[in-house]
Amino acid sequence: MPDDLSFTPRAVPRVETAYRRIVTPFPVPESLPILQKLHQYELRAMAGQPPVVWDRAEGFQVWDAWGNQWLDWSSGVLITNAGHGRQEIADAITAQAQSHLLTTYCFPSAIRAELCERLVSLMPEPLKKIFLLTTGSETVEFAVKVARTHGLAAGGRQKNVIVSFEKAFHGRTLGSQQAGGIPALKEWIGHLDPGFIQVPFPDGYWTEDTSFELFTRTLAERGVAPSQVCGVIMETYQGGTAAFAPPAYIQTLRSWCDGQKALLIFDEVQAGFGRTGTMWGFEHYDTLPDLTTWGKGISSSLPIAAVVGRPELMDLHAPGSASSTHTGNPVCCAAALANVNLIVNEGLVENSARMGRFLMTELHALKARFPQIGFVTGKGLVAGVACVLPGHKQPDTELAKAVVTRCVEKGLLMFNPVGPAGCTVKICPPLTITEDALREGCAVLAEAFTEITAGN
Ligand code: PMP
Repeated sequence: MPDDLSFTPRAVPRVETAYRRIVTPFPVPESLPILQKLHQYELRAMAGQPPVVWDRAEGFQVWDAWGNQWLDWSSGVLITNAGHGRQEIADAITAQAQSHLLTTYCFPSAIRAELCERLVSLMPEPLKKIFLLTTGSETVEFAVKVARTHGLAAGGRQKNVIVSFEKAFHGRTLGSQQAGGIPALKEWIGHLDPGFIQVPFPDGYWTEDTSFELFTRTLAERGVAPSQVCGVIMETYQGGTAAFAPPAYIQTLRSWCDGQKALLIFDEVQAGFGRTGTMWGFEHYDTLPDLTTWGKGISSSLPIAAVVGRPELMDLHAPGSASSTHTGNPVCCAAALANVNLIVNEGLVENSARMGRFLMTELHALKARFPQIGFVTGKGLVAGVACVLPGHKQPDTELAKAVVTRCVEKGLLMFNPVGPAGCTVKICPPLTITEDALREGCAVLAEAFTEITAGN
């Protein structure tokens, strides 16, 4: 939704189906006091959220307090992999809260131990040590710290360069923002650390050259010797565009990192916990990272995140030197445990793969109808539909925004990615979604494309 969206309600067509119900103007007149209060007290940088005031969310649906109901294709921005408002998660949170153990900080708890064991059990050898944290940005900060600490030991002060990818998003804190690949988001930093550089992401569309040679050539162009690299961090799919790299590229990257004694870090904050049709995004590449970062879908609810990796790396720092106040908060641990059990026991990873195949077929059919769609990509239940000027590879951010806004008005909840991927219509429903609901959502998306491209 654009920043300059006025809070003036306008009439939108009535919608009433099994999954969607839109029965008020938009934004809802009764929601204006809430929106205005947020506008008055929150910083301007929080503006731009779709003006849908959530009242209740269950499964793959969201309700407001005024009779409207959305089919959700956002998962609250990739959080609710197990579905919104799951009773099992709410019960686990309630039981933990009722036990009167709400926080422990630097004291151990049984539930923290149980969660660490459970999460590590989901990982292949040798990725068997974990550090629980609170946000995705924090996990990236820690991964960078491990890579730099490792670099110092392996090659001295010169070995401190972190390579990441253009258009990447790794968070908004000082380090994670520098690992990101969206220059406009880093302007505030003033003097960027030369120890962070970005190379093109080999998505095969925006970057046609998917050879690994592009990686080494770009390093040379940036004046970085391979021996200076202490780590390479990559989203297993690019969060903005939903694009994956070719497996051969990643396998070569793995050998290159081994040869240079550089760590390979997969940021799975978006991709983990079944999103891509496999438990971990890196499974699509048939290779393993040294470290991986998790957040979002880890609990489908409360704030918790983690870094998991090879023990000799995770153990680089001395006892007592890693901490964070809300690390392993017992209520968050209870939520994550219940969430992981739901994802595993209900076969949600398999559902993600199955539904993903259906979704991609529908999206490719959509692309065949609209020359404004340049590129359709994704796996499992994450997909990106890139809007372009017909016949050109020029991003059309306005079209993507208009399509998303129209879908929201029609009862299909979505959001626009930040930065250069703003031309992407991103699709990421809860992993519990059914084929019937996906079909309806695709029909709404097609309607929106038809109306907007016809100028309606
Ligand atoms: N890494 C990736 C891939 C992300 O998508 C995000 C958040 N969108 C982050 C890191 C940062 O996570 P958080 O917002 O929890 O700090």
